[in-house]
Amino acid sequence: MFTPLWDRLSSLAPAIQLQVEEPIRENFWNVPEAFKIALYVTMAMATLALVYGLVRRMGLYTQGKSLNRLDHLPTRLGRVFVYVLGQLRIARQSYGGFMHLFIFWSFLVLLLGTTLATIDADFMEPFGVRLLKSNFYLLYEVSLDIFGFLFLIGLGMGWYRRYVVGSVKLSYDWGWAFSLGVLFLINLTGFLVEAIRLAVEQPWWQMYSPVGWFIGQGFLATGLSEGALRAIHLSLWVGHFALAAIFIGGIAYTPLMHILTSPLNIFFSRIEAEPELERTLQPIPRIEEQETWGVGRLADFTWKQLLDFDSCTECGRCQVACPAWNSGMPLNPKHVILDLRNQMLAEGGVPYSQIDGFDGNYQHVTPGAELVGSVIQDETLWACTTCRACVYECPVFIEHVDSIVDMRRHLVMTEGRMPDTVSLTLKNLEKYGNPWGYSPDDRMNWAEGLSVPVLEEGDANGVEYLYWVGCAASFDDRNQKIARAVVQLLQQAGVNYAVLGQAESCNGDPARRLGNEYLYQMMAQNNIEVLNSRKFKKVITACPHCFHTMGNEYPAFGGNYEVIHHTELLADLVSSGRLKPKLAINETITYHDPCYLGRYNDVFDAPREVLAAIPGLEIREMPRSREKSMCCGGGGGGMWLEIHGEKRINELRLQEAQSTGAETVAAACPFCTIMFDSGTKNIPGGDNLGLQDVSELLLRSVGNGGGGGQLGSGGHDPTVLGMEEGIPVPPAKKTE
Ligand code: SF4
Ligand code: SF4
Ligand code: SF4
Repeated sequence: MFTPLWDRLSSLAPAIQLQVEEPIRENFWNVPEAFKIALYVTMAMATLALVYGLVRRMGLYTQGKSLNRLDHLPTRLGRVFVYVLGQLRIARQSYGGFMHLFIFWSFLVLLLGTTLATIDADFMEPFGVRLLKSNFYLLYEVSLDIFGFLFLIGLGMGWYRRYVVGSVKLSYDWGWAFSLGVLFLINLTGFLVEAIRLAVEQPWWQMYSPVGWFIGQGFLATGLSEGALRAIHLSLWVGHFALAAIFIGGIAYTPLMHILTSPLNIFFSRIEAEPELERTLQPIPRIEEQETWGVGRLADFTWKQLLDFDSCTECGRCQVACPAWNSGMPLNPKHVILDLRNQMLAEGGVPYSQIDGFDGNYQHVTPGAELVGSVIQDETLWACTTCRACVYECPVFIEHVDSIVDMRRHLVMTEGRMPDTVSLTLKNLEKYGNPWGYSPDDRMNWAEGLSVPVLEEGDANGVEYLYWVGCAASFDDRNQKIARAVVQLLQQAGVNYAVLGQAESCNGDPARRLGNEYLYQMMAQNNIEVLNSRKFKKVITACPHCFHTMGNEYPAFGGNYEVIHHTELLADLVSSGRLKPKLAINETITYHDPCYLGRYNDVFDAPREVLAAIPGLEIREMPRSREKSMCCGGGGGGMWLEIHGEKRINELRLQEAQSTGAETVAAACPFCTIMFDSGTKNIPGGDNLGLQDVSELLLRSVGNGGGGGQLGSGGHDPTVLGMEEGIPVPPAKKTE
């Protein structure tokens, strides 16, 4: 076991008749009284500058709408423990993770060390009591030296990445150079001051400060006199504390501010009973009574959203993950957040290092400028697919999607300003109950010849599964085939199911994501009324957008249903033997995780389990899969928007699929299927890339007559199934 040197020497002392000096911190060594007073005055001024900056900031946040974020205190503290102290999200990236871990943990230890030194020197020593002595002092010295060294390494890594290698995702204004530079110099001068003290004093415990001792040997090797060393020491001491004062005073006016705001933002992040519920959009309460809707001014955001903007660490992880930015569309989630922050600071008259960023990537700030349309352009808002890749990546829990949709709400509901395609989609939803404007009478065309049972109002027996088909599978030619595959599998497995038929309508997701919350709430309430008038145990759907909206967003309107995705049910049916994939499909395949199924709802394994059960299928993962999956471009109303970038999102994703060498892309979302179906026509080699829903692949392997299980209502009808392949699906009619 390790025994500190002080203990060993103490035990030897009586035997060898030596007086061993007790280790103790020498406060203000070589510092005249006048310098001490100057230090206190300077630090007091720096603290005043900090407090002034923080008070101004509080004034900015409190202009926002109220919101209770003091509930769930134990969970909040747990989140701080895991994501602030544990740095769990930051550590997802190796270089940036190590760099920040070194900086963050060392900063904490050095801060603690400085606090202890202050207590020891200013509050204990004057009363003849000491804290930093004996073994505790030796531990203190060795810890501060090691973490101080790691701090320099972390800061050096940060400087190297930003100013030597360079990265398009990082910021390059003087505030970052200042932040890294001032911390580096504080630490460096701290080591030099320590080194000279050790070189002059040479206490026996100097090896407990290995870095200081090592540098001290260098000073001794110069042959400088003690007087010269003391003079250098005093100059460095002055420099060290001057830099410390600049650091403290600069916190509220430079990117150093994130040291305070980021942990607070994590503490105040949204907490719900289930993680999926934290990914829902918030309803506008008492929507009929409002005079304006959404966010058109900074004060329309909640205080938490304003804190979001001020917490950005400018790491650029959201930017790199954003499909819109990657395709050259006019949206960069990092810049959305920073433009809003800069506007907030400029309007509040708070000086800040980056209000007009030097790299030219930020909007020019004009206090009082129109928030939506000027600070944040309309096209920027329309380019978002609401895929949440940015939110997933953000180490400080910033909620980009909510703010973007809030500004869309302002555009659509308050200003009535939107692209023509959005306007048409919203009209179609209102008039026909589907985004394309097909006649509601055609809603069951997809099922022709399949004997699909319809659950009527007041049907006392009810069913186990209500199959919610969704608009895409009801009307779109390609997706109708998927709906047919789903019901054939249900029938073969003997699942007791039915559909709503013409009583089904769009779940409202496109209206909500496109910013028409009023229309969404009407549609949700109508659907809930219809659903509540039918008897069923669970809802099954093949559309992740329906899945998310009905399962997670309807509860806010009183609609509480157990909603499962078709891949989850199919995985169960396969594992329980009710469906038996037996025909080999000798293909290489890559599975695309739909955002609203994966990132929104953590359903990653079920589709893969179904695919893995199919004999002959070789599955290859794309570089971005599971939580890191790249959106197809269809979410958030993207299906009905024409915001052009340099490339198309769906084509980028298909090229990623091609890079795996797969022959077929497996999808589990009707919107993804539509986006990919059109994308394959535009990319080189796209004609050779197959596109199949997981259910279609399973049906191919199970075969039309295969499978086991019991027949239920709407169960396996061999006559109907035998006819399936020959029946053409009548093309649905577009009414507008
Ligand atoms: S939700 Fe997706 S598209 Fe929208 S800003 Fe975030 S990453 Fe970009
Ligand atoms: S919003 Fe989050 S992920 Fe994006 S740059 Fe800021 S801190 Fe990084
Ligand atoms: S269509 Fe699919 S990939 Fe695209 S946003 Fe929706 S779930 Fe995500």
